[in-house]
Amino acid sequence: MAPTTVPTPLAGKKRRIGVLTSGGDAPGMNGAVRAVVRMAIHYGCEAYAIYEGYDGLVKGGDMIKEMHWEDVRGFLSEGGTLIGTARCAEFRERPGRLQAAKNMIIKGIDALVICGGDGSLTGADTLRAEWQGLLKELVEKKELTEEQIKPFTHLNIVGLVGSIDNDLSMTDATIGCYSSLARICEAVDSVDTTATSHQRAFVIEVMGRHCGWLALMAGVSTGADFIFIPEEPPSENWQEEMCHVIKKHRAMGKRKTIVIVAEGAHDRELNKITPNMVKDLLTNQAGLDTRVTTLGHVQRGGTPSAYDRMLSTLQGVEAVRAVLDATPETPSPVICIIENKIVRRPLLEAIAQTKEVATAIEAKDFDRAMELRDAEFAEYYRAYGITTSTEQPHMLLPEEKRMRIGIIHVGAPAGGMNAATRAAVAYCMARGHTPIALHNGFPGLIRHHSDVPYGSVREIQWVDAEGWASKGGSEIGTNRGLPSEDLETVSQVFSKYNIQALFVVGGFEAFTAVSELRKGRDHYKAFKIPIVILPATISNNVPGTEYSIGSDTCLNALIQYCDACRQSASASRRRVFVIETQGGESGYVATIAGLSIGALAVYCPEDGISLKMLDHDIDHLREVFLQDKGQNRAGKIILVNEKASKTYSVQIIAAMIAEAGKGKFESRHGVPGHFQQGTTPSPMDRVRAVRFGVKSLQHIEAFAGMSRDEIDDDPMSAVVIGIKGAKVLFSPMETVEKKETDWKLRRPKNEFWMGLKETVNTLSGRPPTDCIR
Ligand code: ATP
Repeated sequence: MAPTTVPTPLAGKKRRIGVLTSGGDAPGMNGAVRAVVRMAIHYGCEAYAIYEGYDGLVKGGDMIKEMHWEDVRGFLSEGGTLIGTARCAEFRERPGRLQAAKNMIIKGIDALVICGGDGSLTGADTLRAEWQGLLKELVEKKELTEEQIKPFTHLNIVGLVGSIDNDLSMTDATIGCYSSLARICEAVDSVDTTATSHQRAFVIEVMGRHCGWLALMAGVSTGADFIFIPEEPPSENWQEEMCHVIKKHRAMGKRKTIVIVAEGAHDRELNKITPNMVKDLLTNQAGLDTRVTTLGHVQRGGTPSAYDRMLSTLQGVEAVRAVLDATPETPSPVICIIENKIVRRPLLEAIAQTKEVATAIEAKDFDRAMELRDAEFAEYYRAYGITTSTEQPHMLLPEEKRMRIGIIHVGAPAGGMNAATRAAVAYCMARGHTPIALHNGFPGLIRHHSDVPYGSVREIQWVDAEGWASKGGSEIGTNRGLPSEDLETVSQVFSKYNIQALFVVGGFEAFTAVSELRKGRDHYKAFKIPIVILPATISNNVPGTEYSIGSDTCLNALIQYCDACRQSASASRRRVFVIETQGGESGYVATIAGLSIGALAVYCPEDGISLKMLDHDIDHLREVFLQDKGQNRAGKIILVNEKASKTYSVQIIAAMIAEAGKGKFESRHGVPGHFQQGTTPSPMDRVRAVRFGVKSLQHIEAFAGMSRDEIDDDPMSAVVIGIKGAKVLFSPMETVEKKETDWKLRRPKNEFWMGLKETVNTLSGRPPTDCIR
């Protein structure tokens, strides 16, 4: 066969980065493709999409196409994968990979970014391992010449994990898993209402052949009564155990029963546990009217959640950087996330560890299987157990270690506040503590004491809080008022009800309240108790954490609003929406929403808005619409934080854009306002609320038995729980207040997300703004 023609010149050529999606589709894959394409172009490389996964690589030709900036427009909000995916048997065999290698060289591709599950990443690594041999064979078979293969002696492979199962080890989340979890939670929440009405039981099967992440997290977020996951099968007599737990829940007043079964569920002898087996047990042994719901492919579909849009974007950006950083010696990386930090991990090790989970399960070594999943997985599993089962005698603390723990909500409602409270109540029950709701925040407490029927102080029973896992708002009532309104009365109420510890859920006001109580310890002994604040605010502006519960719910509401605006412009085209976001003095919400919807520009209080800046962006808009060849089928979005400027409101900015665009483009403004608080909390807010709620209570109970003065002396007795980079930490309030807080602007001094503004600009093609500050 005559040697194939390869485009020249290859030496000194621009790098060509290929991107493909493979295996099962996952929401967010398109965001990854968009980020890879645009970042590659930004760094002066050429980007190629390989259609239909490895099938496209093996077939070559038109299946491998150059991608330009405009080709990925609108990708972020689309579910599935727009460049297609397939299961490709040929690629599993060496001849298929030989053909793939040849096609890559023909197209001049020297780096591949693969977004897929562990199978796809294994295939990628095999290709890289064999690469030199494949090239040699291509020359030997005279399909290519020495000359032609010369510029391609090293192949760079970077993996992105796109999988709804979240089954890859070494990463906390895979692209798609939180969107899929959202689909499951929507379904379970819907089933919940009918189950409650008819007092029925529902057995819900969710995806996960080898990984129970979806089942576990669905259990945590919906407060399911029982779950079955492959990594940690139930006890030998699970049939009796499950029926006992469920009967107990019913006896305590629950009107419905939800059991979640992972596809790959089995008992400790690896005998399959099917939803129908569970249904028969619930019907015959527990006497419940039981139905089975299999969610199936619904779980894969739909638009990606805010988190998946952000994760896929940031990981796509990191993948291109990893390609450019790679040397011939660098092991292939897979891009992971640990808590809030994007990291690179060795691809081979991550795959090996993932495979070991399956091996451990097969060997019935379930402790090992749990160990091999991430630490976070085991923590969620424990949190689920503690917050669901009602009888755990081994968990009970001795009398002298049991505490009376006050729970209070402060500030505006945020998604997950109730889930955190439910978790805290359940934890208290399991350990023998008494949870006490301090209704309607500090003003409620103060008025209650003055006999005004406004607030109240009440012990919470398990069944009171049981249904709160998925509820938005604040069931115990929240208020912005601070204890400084009447510290004396607050201290009297604490003493009267013998409050021995305090769990505070809320935003910057809650942070301020805890600071006041901590400082008030000098005068009031009642405040010398362990206090933990769990940050909960849509603004995500609480110092001491990079994530507040409620912020994810807000971002989801906001992207839904923006998607709707954008779509409304699809008929009229050429419309710019100027949308006002909440967030107080912090531009977090605006920036992350901007990243998740591909905003043209984001205006934050941190930078303010100047006339020059508006001029610059209006010029850019003119340019965009001038170049438009009909691709701008939907509207453009500019996000403006509510406090970005006292002068330039969204109405004014929209009017200025409309004026400048006369005849060429138009503009509208939008103020989603309280819509941003969301309705049902997002699964991420719910699960993190549970995890952090349990952790907070564990922290509190470590002070049981200590004297008031000992507590006062310990800086860890007043803390904020939060995520900092790759860790979940308790930070002492005193340090956070002094070193990390900008009190005037009510936000952290160092906002971790500031660096992301650059990424928003880069990916939306906004010209550099440094010159206009
Ligand atoms: P999912 O999580 O949806 O199962 P996956 O990436 O694990 O995603 P697979 O079907 O296992 O899905 O793999 C997708 C494709 O990757 C396969 O069709 C095949 O082309 C390639 N692939 C998988 N495993 C290998 C392997 N061991 N060697 C070469 N190629 C492989």
